[in-house]
Amino acid sequence: MKLSRFGEKVAGDAGIVTLMDDLGEALRVNPEMIFMGGGNPASIPEVEASLSSALQGVMDDPGVRRPMLGVYQPPQGDPEFLDSLAGELRRTCGWPVTRENLAVANGSQSAFFVLFNLLAGEGSDGVYRKVQLPLVPEYLGYADVGLAPSLFRANRPAIEWLPEGLFKYHIDFERLTLDDDLGALCLSRPTNPTGNLVTEDELNHLDALARARDLPLILDVAYGAPFPDIVYPSMRPFWNDNTILVLSLSKLGLPGARTGIVVARPEIIQAFARANTVLSLASGNLGPALAQQLLVRGELFRLGPEVIRPFYHQRMQSALAVFQRELAGLPVRIHRPEGAFFLWLWFEGLPISSMALYERLKARGVLVVPGEHFFPGLEEPWGHRQECLRVTYCQAPERVAEGAKILGDEVRRLYSDG
Ligand code: PLP
Repeated sequence: MKLSRFGEKVAGDAGIVTLMDDLGEALRVNPEMIFMGGGNPASIPEVEASLSSALQGVMDDPGVRRPMLGVYQPPQGDPEFLDSLAGELRRTCGWPVTRENLAVANGSQSAFFVLFNLLAGEGSDGVYRKVQLPLVPEYLGYADVGLAPSLFRANRPAIEWLPEGLFKYHIDFERLTLDDDLGALCLSRPTNPTGNLVTEDELNHLDALARARDLPLILDVAYGAPFPDIVYPSMRPFWNDNTILVLSLSKLGLPGARTGIVVARPEIIQAFARANTVLSLASGNLGPALAQQLLVRGELFRLGPEVIRPFYHQRMQSALAVFQRELAGLPVRIHRPEGAFFLWLWFEGLPISSMALYERLKARGVLVVPGEHFFPGLEEPWGHRQECLRVTYCQAPERVAEGAKILGDEVRRLYSDG
C-alpha cells in the first residue's frame, strides 16, 4: 500500500496518536494504573441523572425519537435545536445571534479540522496561510489536523510569578507579530493543558488585533462559558462577528455523543456547513436531541455553574493541596488552575525530559501526559517544553493523592541523583 502525503501524516506516528495508544495499552495491561492522563470528564452523579432523564425524554416522545433515530440532519443541524440554542444565547449572553450563526459538528475536534483547513493552507492566490497560536502551551489535539504540513505558528508566553509556588502564562504582545501569511488566530480558553484563563484584557487586545487584520479569531471553549463553564471563579462569555466560537458537549458529560457547535457569522457558518457535509454527510442527532431536551428543561446553561463547576473546583483545590504537599521543597511551579480539569506542573531544570519522566511514572503505575506535545507550531528551541507535565484531577481524590505521592518520590530521586 502506498499512502499519500496526507495518509502518511494522519496515519503515521502523530504524537497524539502514539500517546493515546500508549495510555490505552498501559491501562489494558495494568487496569490498576492511576490514570491522570487523558481528558475524559469525571462521572458526576447529578449530571448523569440529568442526562439519563433527558435521554428518557427523547425516547418517550415519538415526535422526537423518530427523527433522532431515522432522519439525517440538514447541513447546519436540526433547525429547531439551532433556534432554541440561538434564543438561549441571545437571552443569557446577549449576543445578536440566530440560527444563521450556528452549525453542529461531530465533536469539536472535527470542527477544528474543518475550520483550520478552511482558513489555512494554500490559497488560490498562491499564499500559504497559517493559524497563529498567540500562546503555547496549547491543546495538543490541534497539532496534526492540518492537511498542509505545518499549519501553525506559535508564540512563547510571558510568565508571571505568583505566590505559593504558582505561576501564570500571559500572551506576550511584545513578541506577537502577526505576519502577512495568516488565515486565523486560535486560542483555547480556559486552556488545555494549563487551566489558564487568558485575561479579558488580553482577549480584547487580541480581538482588536485580529479585527484590524481581518483575521477570524477562533475561540475554543470546550471547558468554558457558556457551557460547561468549568472556570474558577467565573468568566464572561465572549463572542462577536469576528469570533468563531467552538462549543462542545463533551466536558458537560457527553464525550460519547460527539457533538460540537460552531458560533460564527453566517458566511463562515455556510462555508463550514458545506465542508462538514462533504466530510460527514450530516452530523449525529443524539447530542443535539439531548441538548434540546436540556435546553427546554433549563438545564444546559444551569448544570455548569450549579453542579459541574463546583464539583471540579473542589477536586482542583484538593489536588492542588496534595501536589503542593508532595512536591514541597522541589524546584517546581504549578500553573494557577483557573479552569478545565488539569494541573500543569513545571519542574525547573528537570534532569531528564518530561517524556522520560512519563515513562518512569508509567512503570510505577501512574499515567500523566508529558508536556512536549503541547507546543504545536513553536519553532524556536525552548527547554521549558521538556520540563512540564499535565495531570488530570478527575479521579477520586484518594487516587490523585496516591499518584501525587509517587510522582513526588520519583522526581525527588531524579533531582537528588543530579
Ligand atoms: N478542545 C480542547 C481544548 C479539548 O481539550 C478537547 C478534548 O479534549 C477538544 C477541543 C475536543 O473535544 P471534542 O471533540 O470531544 O468536542
